[in-house]
Amino acid sequence: NGVKKYFPIKGGILKRVQGNVKAVESVSLKLYKGESLGIVGESGCGKSTLGRTILGLEELTEGKIKFNEQEIQDLKRKEKKKFVKEMQMIFQDPYASLNPRQRIGNALDEVFRMHTKMPAQERKEAVLDLLKEVGLKEEHYDRYPHEFSGGQRQRIGIARAIALHPSFIICDEAVSALDVSVQAQVLKLLKTLQEKYHLSYLFISHDLGVVRYFCDRVLVMYLGHTVEMSDVTRIFNHPLHPYTRALLSAIPRPTMNVKRERIRLVGDMPNPSNPPSGCVFHTRCPMAQEICSVDKPAFIEHEKDHFAACHFAGESLSRVLG
Ligand code: SF4
Ligand code: MG
Repeated sequence: NGVKKYFPIKGGILKRVQGNVKAVESVSLKLYKGESLGIVGESGCGKSTLGRTILGLEELTEGKIKFNEQEIQDLKRKEKKKFVKEMQMIFQDPYASLNPRQRIGNALDEVFRMHTKMPAQERKEAVLDLLKEVGLKEEHYDRYPHEFSGGQRQRIGIARAIALHPSFIICDEAVSALDVSVQAQVLKLLKTLQEKYHLSYLFISHDLGVVRYFCDRVLVMYLGHTVEMSDVTRIFNHPLHPYTRALLSAIPRPTMNVKRERIRLVGDMPNPSNPPSGCVFHTRCPMAQEICSVDKPAFIEHEKDHFAACHFAGESLSRVLG
Protein backbone atom coordinates (compact mmCIF):
# COMPACT_ATOMS: atom_id res chain seq x y z
CA ASN A 1 0.00 0.00 0.00
CA GLY A 2 1.56 3.31 -1.15
CA VAL A 3 4.95 1.70 -1.62
CA LYS A 4 7.74 4.14 -2.44
CA LYS A 5 11.36 3.39 -3.05
CA TYR A 6 13.79 6.26 -3.54
CA PHE A 7 17.53 5.89 -3.92
CA PRO A 8 19.38 8.98 -2.68
CA ILE A 9 21.91 10.51 -5.05
CA LYS A 10 24.94 11.69 -3.11
CA GLY A 11 27.52 14.04 -4.51
CA GLY A 12 30.23 16.61 -3.80
CA ILE A 13 33.05 16.18 -1.30
CA LEU A 14 30.60 16.19 1.60
CA LYS A 15 28.56 13.42 -0.02
CA ARG A 16 25.38 15.34 0.61
CA VAL A 17 22.11 14.01 -0.71
CA GLN A 18 21.44 15.98 -3.87
CA GLY A 19 18.27 14.32 -4.95
CA ASN A 20 16.55 10.98 -5.31
CA VAL A 21 16.13 8.40 -8.00
CA LYS A 22 12.41 7.82 -7.64
CA ALA A 23 12.41 4.16 -8.63
CA VAL A 24 8.98 3.30 -7.26
CA GLU A 25 6.36 5.98 -6.65
CA SER A 26 3.31 5.08 -4.53
CA VAL A 27 2.44 1.65 -5.81
CA SER A 28 -0.56 -0.12 -4.29
CA LEU A 29 -1.53 -3.61 -5.26
CA LYS A 30 -3.06 -6.81 -3.96
CA LEU A 31 -1.92 -10.28 -4.78
CA TYR A 32 -4.47 -13.02 -4.20
CA LYS A 33 -3.75 -16.56 -3.10
CA GLY A 34 -2.95 -18.82 -6.03
CA GLU A 35 -2.89 -16.10 -8.69
CA SER A 36 -0.20 -14.78 -11.00
CA LEU A 37 0.06 -11.03 -11.27
CA GLY A 38 2.24 -9.87 -14.15
CA ILE A 39 4.23 -6.66 -13.82
CA VAL A 40 5.18 -5.21 -17.17
CA GLY A 41 6.93 -2.11 -18.44
CA GLU A 42 10.15 -1.06 -20.16
CA SER A 43 13.44 -1.69 -18.42
CA GLY A 44 14.06 0.92 -15.75
CA CYS A 45 10.37 1.37 -14.92
CA GLY A 46 10.84 0.06 -11.38
CA LYS A 47 9.50 -3.50 -11.76
CA SER A 48 12.49 -5.23 -10.20
CA THR A 49 12.92 -2.61 -7.49
CA LEU A 50 9.27 -3.04 -6.56
CA GLY A 51 9.78 -6.81 -6.28
CA ARG A 52 12.95 -6.46 -4.25
CA THR A 53 11.31 -3.93 -1.95
CA ILE A 54 8.32 -6.20 -1.33
CA LEU A 55 10.71 -9.00 -0.34
CA GLY A 56 12.63 -6.69 1.97
CA LEU A 57 15.81 -6.86 -0.13
CA GLU A 58 15.58 -3.08 -0.43
CA GLU A 59 14.64 -0.82 2.42
CA LEU A 60 11.20 0.67 2.04
CA THR A 61 11.14 4.48 1.68
CA GLU A 62 7.44 4.79 2.44
CA GLY A 63 4.32 2.65 2.52
CA LYS A 64 3.05 -0.58 4.01
CA ILE A 65 3.51 -4.18 3.03
CA LYS A 66 1.16 -6.79 4.42
CA PHE A 67 1.57 -10.52 4.14
CA ASN A 68 -1.46 -12.54 5.25
CA GLU A 69 -2.80 -9.46 7.06
CA GLN A 70 0.42 -8.98 9.02
CA GLU A 71 2.39 -5.80 8.41
CA ILE A 72 5.90 -6.95 7.74
CA GLN A 73 7.88 -3.84 6.86
CA ASP A 74 8.80 -3.00 10.45
CA LEU A 75 9.40 -6.49 11.79
CA LYS A 76 12.62 -7.15 13.62
CA ARG A 77 15.05 -9.52 12.00
CA LYS A 78 14.05 -12.47 14.14
CA GLU A 79 10.33 -12.03 13.51
CA LYS A 80 11.04 -11.59 9.84
CA LYS A 81 12.62 -15.02 9.60
CA LYS A 82 9.37 -16.91 9.30
CA PHE A 83 8.34 -14.71 6.40
CA VAL A 84 11.61 -15.30 4.65
CA LYS A 85 10.57 -18.93 4.23
CA GLU A 86 7.20 -17.88 2.86
CA MET A 87 8.53 -15.47 0.24
CA GLN A 88 11.07 -16.41 -2.39
CA MET A 89 12.48 -15.05 -5.62
CA ILE A 90 13.50 -16.61 -8.91
CA PHE A 91 15.93 -14.58 -10.98
CA GLN A 92 16.71 -14.34 -14.67
CA ASP A 93 20.14 -15.90 -14.26
CA PRO A 94 20.29 -18.60 -11.59
CA TYR A 95 23.87 -19.31 -12.63
CA ALA A 96 25.00 -16.02 -11.11
CA SER A 97 23.87 -17.13 -7.67
CA LEU A 98 25.32 -20.65 -7.88
CA ASN A 99 28.83 -21.36 -6.69
CA PRO A 100 30.61 -22.89 -9.71
CA ARG A 101 32.65 -25.19 -7.45
CA GLN A 102 29.70 -26.49 -5.46
CA ARG A 103 27.80 -29.57 -6.59
CA ILE A 104 24.10 -28.95 -7.12
CA GLY A 105 23.04 -31.46 -4.49
CA ASN A 106 25.15 -29.68 -1.95
CA ALA A 107 23.85 -26.26 -2.98
CA LEU A 108 20.26 -27.42 -2.43
CA ASP A 109 21.21 -29.22 0.77
CA GLU A 110 22.51 -25.90 2.06
CA VAL A 111 18.99 -24.45 2.02
CA PHE A 112 17.83 -27.17 4.40
CA ARG A 113 20.99 -26.93 6.52
CA MET A 114 20.45 -23.23 6.99
CA HIS A 115 16.73 -23.19 7.64
CA THR A 116 15.79 -26.56 9.16
CA LYS A 117 17.07 -29.00 11.73
CA MET A 118 16.73 -32.00 9.45
CA PRO A 119 19.42 -34.69 9.84
CA ALA A 120 21.74 -35.36 6.90
CA GLN A 121 19.98 -38.44 5.53
CA GLU A 122 16.60 -36.74 5.59
CA ARG A 123 18.05 -33.70 3.85
CA LYS A 124 19.52 -35.84 1.12
CA GLU A 125 16.14 -37.43 0.49
CA ALA A 126 14.50 -34.01 0.47
CA VAL A 127 17.00 -32.79 -2.14
CA LEU A 128 16.41 -35.84 -4.33
CA ASP A 129 12.67 -35.25 -4.07
CA LEU A 130 13.20 -31.63 -5.03
CA LEU A 131 15.23 -32.57 -8.08
CA LYS A 132 12.45 -34.89 -9.19
CA GLU A 133 9.81 -32.27 -8.51
CA VAL A 134 11.44 -29.80 -10.92
CA GLY A 135 12.08 -32.40 -13.62
CA LEU A 136 15.73 -33.16 -12.89
CA LYS A 137 17.24 -36.54 -12.10
CA GLU A 138 18.93 -38.23 -9.16
CA GLU A 139 22.26 -38.34 -11.02
CA HIS A 140 22.21 -34.52 -11.21
CA TYR A 141 22.89 -34.41 -7.47
CA ASP A 142 26.67 -34.65 -7.95
CA ARG A 143 26.98 -32.37 -10.96
CA TYR A 144 28.38 -28.85 -11.10
CA PRO A 145 26.46 -25.80 -12.36
CA HIS A 146 28.38 -25.61 -15.65
CA GLU A 147 27.19 -29.10 -16.56
CA PHE A 148 23.59 -27.90 -16.86
CA SER A 149 21.77 -26.18 -19.71
CA GLY A 150 20.07 -22.81 -19.21
CA GLY A 151 16.67 -24.45 -18.77
CA GLN A 152 18.05 -26.96 -16.26
CA ARG A 153 19.72 -24.19 -14.30
CA GLN A 154 16.43 -22.38 -14.07
CA ARG A 155 14.91 -25.61 -12.75
CA ILE A 156 17.62 -25.57 -10.08
CA GLY A 157 16.67 -21.96 -9.28
CA ILE A 158 13.05 -23.05 -8.96
CA ALA A 159 14.04 -26.01 -6.76
CA ARG A 160 15.86 -23.65 -4.44
CA ALA A 161 12.90 -21.28 -4.34
CA ILE A 162 10.33 -23.97 -3.47
CA ALA A 163 12.53 -25.98 -1.08
CA LEU A 164 11.04 -24.45 2.07
CA HIS A 165 7.45 -24.51 0.76
CA PRO A 166 6.84 -20.80 0.32
CA SER A 167 3.42 -19.44 -0.57
CA PHE A 168 4.64 -16.43 -2.55
CA ILE A 169 7.31 -16.30 -5.25
CA ILE A 170 8.55 -13.34 -7.26
CA CYS A 171 9.74 -14.38 -10.70
CA ASP A 172 11.95 -11.61 -12.05
CA GLU A 173 12.41 -12.16 -15.79
CA ALA A 174 12.59 -15.84 -14.84
CA VAL A 175 12.28 -17.18 -18.40
CA SER A 176 13.56 -14.18 -20.35
CA ALA A 177 16.99 -15.65 -21.08
CA LEU A 178 15.65 -18.98 -22.34
CA ASP A 179 14.81 -20.20 -25.83
CA VAL A 180 11.12 -20.17 -26.63
CA SER A 181 10.67 -23.95 -26.40
CA VAL A 182 12.55 -24.13 -23.10
CA GLN A 183 10.56 -21.12 -21.88
CA ALA A 184 7.35 -23.03 -22.43
CA GLN A 185 8.60 -26.01 -20.41
CA VAL A 186 9.73 -23.87 -17.49
CA LEU A 187 6.45 -21.92 -17.50
CA LYS A 188 4.58 -25.21 -17.48
CA LEU A 189 6.61 -26.33 -14.47
CA LEU A 190 5.82 -23.07 -12.66
CA LYS A 191 2.11 -23.60 -13.36
CA THR A 192 2.18 -27.19 -12.13
CA LEU A 193 3.88 -26.11 -8.91
CA GLN A 194 1.41 -23.27 -8.52
CA GLU A 195 -1.55 -25.63 -8.67
CA LYS A 196 0.04 -28.19 -6.39
CA TYR A 197 1.11 -25.73 -3.69
CA HIS A 198 -1.38 -22.87 -4.25
CA LEU A 199 1.50 -20.52 -4.94
CA SER A 200 1.03 -16.84 -5.69
CA TYR A 201 3.37 -15.38 -8.27
CA LEU A 202 4.43 -11.83 -8.91
CA PHE A 203 5.63 -12.30 -12.45
CA ILE A 204 7.95 -9.52 -13.59
CA SER A 205 8.55 -9.55 -17.32
CA HIS A 206 9.09 -7.31 -20.30
CA ASP A 207 7.67 -10.03 -22.56
CA LEU A 208 3.97 -9.37 -23.02
CA GLY A 209 3.44 -12.62 -24.91
CA VAL A 210 4.67 -14.63 -21.94
CA VAL A 211 2.61 -12.52 -19.52
CA ARG A 212 -0.50 -13.03 -21.61
CA TYR A 213 -0.03 -16.77 -21.50
CA PHE A 214 1.01 -17.05 -17.87
CA CYS A 215 -0.76 -14.41 -15.79
CA ASP A 216 -4.26 -13.84 -14.43
CA ARG A 217 -3.90 -10.12 -13.93
CA VAL A 218 -1.47 -7.50 -15.19
CA LEU A 219 -0.05 -4.32 -13.70
CA VAL A 220 1.60 -1.91 -16.13
CA MET A 221 4.33 0.35 -14.78
CA TYR A 222 5.91 3.45 -16.22
CA LEU A 223 8.64 5.45 -14.53
CA GLY A 224 7.92 4.04 -11.08
CA HIS A 225 4.15 4.59 -11.40
CA THR A 226 1.34 2.14 -11.91
CA VAL A 227 -0.51 3.24 -15.02
CA GLU A 228 -2.96 0.40 -15.58
CA MET A 229 -4.13 -2.78 -13.89
CA SER A 230 -6.75 -5.35 -14.75
CA ASP A 231 -7.24 -8.96 -15.68
CA VAL A 232 -5.19 -10.23 -18.56
CA THR A 233 -8.06 -10.38 -21.06
CA ARG A 234 -9.03 -6.77 -20.55
CA ILE A 235 -5.48 -5.49 -20.60
CA PHE A 236 -4.84 -7.18 -23.92
CA ASN A 237 -8.23 -6.69 -25.59
CA HIS A 238 -9.38 -3.41 -24.16
CA PRO A 239 -6.47 -1.37 -22.74
CA LEU A 240 -7.43 2.04 -21.36
CA HIS A 241 -4.04 3.71 -21.03
CA PRO A 242 -2.09 5.06 -24.03
CA TYR A 243 1.12 3.58 -22.63
CA THR A 244 -0.38 0.10 -22.41
CA ARG A 245 -1.67 0.52 -25.95
CA ALA A 246 1.78 1.52 -27.12
CA LEU A 247 3.35 -1.52 -25.49
CA LEU A 248 0.76 -3.78 -27.07
CA SER A 249 1.01 -2.29 -30.51
CA ALA A 250 4.73 -3.03 -30.44
CA ILE A 251 4.10 -6.80 -30.29
CA PRO A 252 4.72 -8.12 -33.78
CA ARG A 253 2.10 -10.83 -33.76
CA PRO A 254 -0.32 -11.55 -36.56
CA THR A 255 -2.37 -13.69 -34.17
CA MET A 256 -3.16 -10.69 -32.01
CA ASN A 257 -5.78 -9.51 -34.42
CA VAL A 258 -7.61 -7.24 -32.03
CA LYS A 259 -8.43 -4.01 -33.76
CA ARG A 260 -6.51 -1.16 -32.25
CA GLU A 261 -4.68 1.96 -33.16
CA ARG A 262 -0.98 1.73 -33.66
CA ILE A 263 0.66 3.97 -31.09
CA ARG A 264 4.33 4.73 -31.39
CA LEU A 265 6.32 5.98 -28.47
CA VAL A 266 8.65 8.86 -29.11
CA GLY A 267 11.81 9.60 -27.15
CA ASP A 268 13.35 7.82 -24.19
CA MET A 269 12.08 7.24 -20.71
CA PRO A 270 12.73 10.43 -18.69
CA ASN A 271 15.24 10.48 -15.86
CA PRO A 272 13.58 9.05 -12.71
CA SER A 273 15.43 11.56 -10.53
CA ASN A 274 13.61 14.35 -12.31
CA PRO A 275 10.24 12.98 -13.42
CA PRO A 276 7.95 15.13 -15.62
CA SER A 277 5.27 17.22 -13.94
CA GLY A 278 1.62 16.19 -14.10
CA CYS A 279 1.23 12.86 -15.85
CA VAL A 280 4.69 11.25 -15.91
CA PHE A 281 3.94 9.89 -19.37
CA HIS A 282 3.09 13.26 -20.95
CA THR A 283 6.51 13.77 -22.57
CA ARG A 284 5.99 10.68 -24.70
CA CYS A 285 2.24 10.36 -24.90
CA PRO A 286 0.73 10.79 -28.38
CA MET A 287 -2.56 11.85 -26.77
CA ALA A 288 -1.16 14.43 -24.35
CA GLN A 289 -3.15 17.66 -23.87
CA GLU A 290 -2.37 20.81 -21.92
CA ILE A 291 -3.89 19.49 -18.70
CA CYS A 292 -1.55 16.47 -18.78
CA SER A 293 1.62 18.39 -17.93
CA VAL A 294 -0.12 20.14 -15.03
CA ASP A 295 -2.52 17.68 -13.42
CA LYS A 296 -1.39 14.29 -12.28
CA PRO A 297 -4.08 11.76 -13.19
CA ALA A 298 -5.18 9.54 -10.28
CA PHE A 299 -5.01 5.78 -10.56
CA ILE A 300 -8.72 5.05 -10.45
CA GLU A 301 -11.18 2.29 -11.23
CA HIS A 302 -12.77 3.10 -14.59
CA GLU A 303 -14.62 -0.18 -14.95
CA LYS A 304 -15.00 -2.93 -12.40
CA ASP A 305 -11.50 -4.15 -11.48
CA HIS A 306 -9.95 -2.10 -14.27
CA PHE A 307 -7.73 0.72 -13.04
CA ALA A 308 -5.87 3.34 -15.03
CA ALA A 309 -4.12 6.66 -14.47
CA CYS A 310 -5.02 8.86 -17.44
CA HIS A 311 -7.24 11.92 -17.93
CA PHE A 312 -8.44 10.40 -21.19
CA ALA A 313 -8.52 6.74 -20.21
CA GLY A 314 -10.20 4.63 -22.83
CA GLU A 315 -10.61 7.48 -25.32
CA SER A 316 -9.43 6.95 -28.85
CA LEU A 317 -6.43 8.81 -30.16
CA SER A 318 -8.37 10.41 -33.01
CA ARG A 319 -11.08 11.69 -30.70
CA VAL A 320 -8.72 13.30 -28.22
CA LEU A 321 -6.59 14.87 -30.94
CA GLY A 322 -9.74 15.97 -32.75
FE1 SF4 B 1 -1.36 10.75 -22.02
FE2 SF4 B 1 -2.49 12.75 -20.72
FE3 SF4 B 1 -3.36 10.27 -20.35
FE4 SF4 B 1 -0.99 11.02 -19.40
S1 SF4 B 1 -2.98 11.79 -18.77
S2 SF4 B 1 -1.44 9.15 -20.46
S3 SF4 B 1 -0.30 12.40 -21.00
S4 SF4 B 1 -3.46 11.45 -22.23
MG1 MG C 1 14.59 -5.74 -13.98
